[in-house]
Parts: sequence; structure tokens; C-alpha cells
Amino acid sequence: MPSVPPERRAAELRALLQQAAHDYYVLDRPTLPDARYDHLLRELQDLERAHPSLRLADSPTMRVGAEAASALAKHAHLLPMISLGNAFSEEEVTAWEERLARLVGDDARRAGYVAELKIDGAAVSLTYRDGVLSEGTTRGNGVIGEQVTANLRTLHDVPLRLRGDDVPPLLEVRGEVYMPFAGFEAMNAECVAAGEPVYANPRNTAAGALRQLDPSITARRPLRFFGYTVAAPAGIALPFDTQWALLATLERWGIPVAPHRRRCATLDEVHEWSRDVERRVRADLDFAIDGGVVKVDSLRLQEELGVIGGREPRWAIARKFAPDIAETTLKDIRVNVGRTGSLNPFAVLEPVEIGGTTVQLATLHNFDLILAKDLRVGDIVQVKRAGDVIPQVIGPVPERRDPEYPPRTTRVPTTCPSCGTPVERDEEEVAIYCPNVACPDRQLEAIVHFASRGAMDIRGLSYARIEQFIAASLVHDVADLYALEAAQLTALDRFAHKSAVALVDAIEASKAQPLSRLLFGLGIRHVGQTAAQLLARHFGSMDALAGAGVEDIRAIRGIGDGIARAVSAFGEDASARELVRKLGRAGVSMTEPRAVASGGALTGMTFVVTGTLPTLSRSDATELIESQGGRVTSGVSKATTAVVAGEEPGSKLDKARVLGIDVIDEAELRRRAGATADLPT
Ligand code: NAD
Repeated sequence: MPSVPPERRAAELRALLQQAAHDYYVLDRPTLPDARYDHLLRELQDLERAHPSLRLADSPTMRVGAEAASALAKHAHLLPMISLGNAFSEEEVTAWEERLARLVGDDARRAGYVAELKIDGAAVSLTYRDGVLSEGTTRGNGVIGEQVTANLRTLHDVPLRLRGDDVPPLLEVRGEVYMPFAGFEAMNAECVAAGEPVYANPRNTAAGALRQLDPSITARRPLRFFGYTVAAPAGIALPFDTQWALLATLERWGIPVAPHRRRCATLDEVHEWSRDVERRVRADLDFAIDGGVVKVDSLRLQEELGVIGGREPRWAIARKFAPDIAETTLKDIRVNVGRTGSLNPFAVLEPVEIGGTTVQLATLHNFDLILAKDLRVGDIVQVKRAGDVIPQVIGPVPERRDPEYPPRTTRVPTTCPSCGTPVERDEEEVAIYCPNVACPDRQLEAIVHFASRGAMDIRGLSYARIEQFIAASLVHDVADLYALEAAQLTALDRFAHKSAVALVDAIEASKAQPLSRLLFGLGIRHVGQTAAQLLARHFGSMDALAGAGVEDIRAIRGIGDGIARAVSAFGEDASARELVRKLGRAGVSMTEPRAVASGGALTGMTFVVTGTLPTLSRSDATELIESQGGRVTSGVSKATTAVVAGEEPGSKLDKARVLGIDVIDEAELRRRAGATADLPT
């Protein structure tokens, strides 16, 4: 902003940042995206550095958090709870190391670093007297916080008493209260169902839940805690002298510590760690992080390095990641019709770069959510993209609406955009449906699903190929696939003889797939892979299933009311029955091979599969384990026998390590399943 005098710009920035910090810390209702706040704060810091006379005592650059301003009682921290300096690039982390070297020579480098996840939650301090939780407080302005002891006691992972015989008599454990994504989304789903406005983000929802006056409200919120440091009065000896040992001790005392931390001998290792966290780990986490924190490992050196201006330590730096949220214009709301007929709204956006990728389309989930968020075409919206997850529109930024051109208010469609049939809505669901089974868009999605890996697994039958077959009127439903001949395919564009023969062979081979895959592939509403397996195993054949009533189906363990009704409705539907007959006539298998239910090599064992295995797909691995009497679950717990890990495993692997559960690879799984197992290929 070269034309604005520095004093004016500094005053402008101070006013802007003060207002934003109040909205964020006191009201828990942010009015700026974090990246924008950080950017403006950086601009003010640079101005103040260039013109020290502009540095006022109440500048947002000099403060931590905000004054405790609620009706809650106040608490003075044993030692201040400080913030962190930021590094937005690897170069800035390297510059930090150079600053350290100027102060303590080579000592910091020799001591090494600890890299930790930077949890995007609300900072709290837990006071333990003789190992018993006596007070819990928010950070407040860093010196004085608010007492939220009763609220913090409702968190199941905050220990009320620390374990171990080396717990100091007085100790503050500092850490972050956060809300996992799953819990946050479940809360928002409840809001949608109740017709209430949804919460903006997990961080501010967690902070708000923590500062409730009524602890029973906090207790109903899915809050969790991670600890990362301690404070003790001078004279109290602590049983560790490095950050790494501090974290291990916290864990030993019963405090949860965030996963994925690493002890790094060099800054190169720190860089490698943060690249890995930003590109891979972050997408798998069930909680929000906004970067990593790099700390000098030696606590003696930390003390020597001290704190800058009461605000940030010299011995640590926050390595902030590129935001995975950006703002852009919502150009249009369009609808895609899914295989079950559900109308799925999605956003067409003004292209925007998020974390190195250009995003133009994003999911809007369902129309109830669009209405709850009051999302309108023409709005400036916040869009989030985390790893490989489909980008999603978080919500509009109403402050940025142009008052002259109010965006259009969104209407829920009453007819299917593909075939014009009036839509239907199931009382218990948020989605709206096109009931027409012959709807062209539904057919396309249905065939894509039928051919997919978890279903009939027809290699080479891509989305584009299916569109081509439908356009050429060769295929109207999934059974028509089995009538395709190579000569018909070579007559189409982009089909060589060899690929035509290969595709017809792949379709032919899929006839032998077991009933469970067929049931899943048929796309019966609510019937996922697990339900399909339960049904196939219980009934053994399509005939037996067709002859079963709702009650027989509901009686199966693991099958709920909704699935039972949907399966029974499918069995009674004349066109569905005709489709199944047509598949039978084409030679598609209608039976499930008997599993080695008990007496198999894996009987009584429970496995969790994570990452990409060298040869087995997720469903193949499940089939293999179940064929030998084992069970596959999605979450790691103490009851898990082993975690089967492939390439790029997720956080399940860390959980297994924390719980001390066996981690094995595919080869070991095959070995344990025994040579007699019928190995899928
Ligand atoms: P910060 O969140 O950037 O960093 C410091 C905090 O990180 C610490 O106090 C601690 O609570 C936390 N932390 C998480 N994991 C940690 C770990 N492993 N080790 C040590 N500390 C860890 O700084 P801040 O002072 O809390 O606040 C600034 C943040 O708040 C920024 O992200 C900023 O964007 C956001 N903010 C946003 C607005 C807005 O309008 N959107 C306004 C004010 C602040």
C-alpha cells in the first residue's frame, strides 16, 4: 500500500485486527479467514519494524489472545501462556535457526529439534495439585485466563488424576482442546435436522463450547484434548530435560499427546517432516491443524533463549501451512443425479487455487445444508480442500455480499433435472430423490457403480466408455453389458480390436463374482459392502433372499430397519425383479460361496486394513480375512489383533503403535490366512 502514509495504514490495521481478534477470541465467531488475519498481522509487524515509533503498547502484535471478558471467574497462570512466532516458508524456518545461532552459537543445532502438529483448537491450562486436577482455564490474554474447570472435567481424555510416582506437587499442563471433524459434522447434521444455523468451524465451536456457563452443555459437545507442555513454579524439579522426554512423560502420566511428532537431528529433517505432514498426513487426520511447531529440544536451551516481548518464545516457531481454505465466487449451483436417484447439489466456482490445486467444482452435500447456510448464487464463499477429499463449500461470507446486487435465493428443485420426473423425499432423510429407475443419469451412475472395484470389478469399463455405450443405445441397464460383443465395440470411436476383446472378456469374467458383490453392485438403497456381505452370507442365494420377508431380513445381526425395508422393496419391485432375471439368464452367478465361518485360520481374530496393499484391494483383503473366519473393522482398538498396513497408511497405523498392536504387511496376512486359503487375486 505504497501511497498510504505508514501511520495511517498502521492505525487502519490495528483497528481491523483488534475487531477481528475480538470476534475470534471473545465471541468465538471469526469474521476474517485465518490466513487473511495472519497476512494483515504480518503487514503490521513489518510496518512496526520499519517504523518503531508506530509500535504502541496495545498493538495486536504485542498481545496474546484477548482479555477474559465473560462472566466466568478469572485465573492467573503460574507462568504466562504465550503465542508463537510464525514461519510461512522453509526459508523462514531456516532464518529462525540462523537467529538462534547468533544467540547461542551451535548449541541449538547440536541439541536438535522436536516437530509437533500444531493443533488448531483452543489453548487451555490444567492445574494439578498433588496429581489431582484442581483447576482448568482458558489462555485468555496469556496472563489471566477464565476458569472453566467444571467444563474441562467433562472431557473424557482429560485425566482427573495423573498416574505415576514422579508427578510434581504443583504443575500446569498446557495443551489444546479441539473438536474432531466427525463430531463437528455430527453436530452440524443435528442442527440441519432441527432447522438451526450450522457452526462455522471446529476451532471456534470448541472454544465456544469450552466457555459455556453450564457444564452440561460442554459435556454434550465432542471435545478432546492434547497436551504439549508444562509449567511449574521455580524450585520444583521436573523429571525430564528435553521436549521429547517431556512429551513421553506427559503420555506416561495419562495425558493424550498428538500423534506424528518427530525428533529431528537437523532442519532438513524438520522440512521433510513438514512437507509430509502438509501433503499426506493432514488429509488423514480427524482434527484440524494449521501447521507444525518446531521446538529446540533442550529445555535448558529453551530457558536460556527466553521469550520475545512476553508474546512468543525464541526457542519455537510455528510453521504455518498454506491454507486449505480460500474464498471465491459461487457462480452456479447444479445438480447431479446419483445411482440411487439422489439429487446431489454441487457448486460451480470461479476457479481458485487452494493448496496448489485449482478448484472449480465443490460438493454442497444436500439442499437442507444449502438452506441452513443461506448459500446463494453470486455469494463469495469459503471453499475447503483437504488432501484428496472432494472440495467442499463451507459457507458464504455474508459480509462480502454486495448490497446493490443481492444474490439470488436458492430454491430446492421439484423435478429431476435429468428426466423431469417430480422428486420425492423420504421423511427420515435429507436427500431428495428422482424415483424414475429409467432416468438416464441414474442409469449411467448405476452402471458405473456396478462395474466399480468394490462391486463387479470390471477392469477397463470406465465412465467414458459407459457414456459411449449409452449414447450408442447399446446399453440401457447393467444386464445389457453381458450382451456386448467385440464387433459392436470396434464399430465405436476409439476402440481397437484388442481393447474391445479385453473388455468383453473382463465383462464375461465378472459373471463369476459372488452374490455379495452383485448385491452391492445393484445399488439397492442403503446396501453398502458390509450389508451386502451379511445378506449374501445369510441367504446364500438370490432365490432365498427373494423369498425372504422384511422380518427375516431384519433378524440378521448388523442389518437395520432401513436396510431391511429397502431390500424388501427392491425384491417386490417388478422392474428390479426383471433386471435380476435378465442377469441370471446372462449367466451371472446368483450364489455366495460358503465361507469358512469357523475353524478358519483367522477365527476369532480382528483386523484393520489401512493404506494401499501391493496386490489385494480393500475388499479382496476383507474377503480373504473373512473366508478364514476373521473379522474386519474400521477402527483400531485394544480388541484389534493386527493392523494390515500398505503404502501410505493413515492415522490408524499411529493408533496401532500407540496401543502396541501388531502391524503386519500383506505377505504376513497371506501367511497367517494359511496356504489352504482361497486367495483372491
Ligand atoms: P497461534 O494459534 O498461531 O499459535 C500459538 C498457539 O498454538 C499456542 O498458544 C498454542 O495454543 C497453539 N499450539 C497448538 N499446537 C501446539 C504445539 N504442539 N506446541 C505449542 N503450541 C501449540 O497463535 P494464537 O496467538 O493462538 O492466535 C493466532 C491464531 O488465531 C492464528 O491462526 C490466527 O489466524 C487466528 N486468529 C484469527 C482471527 C480471525 O479473525 N480469523 C483473529 C485472531 C486470531
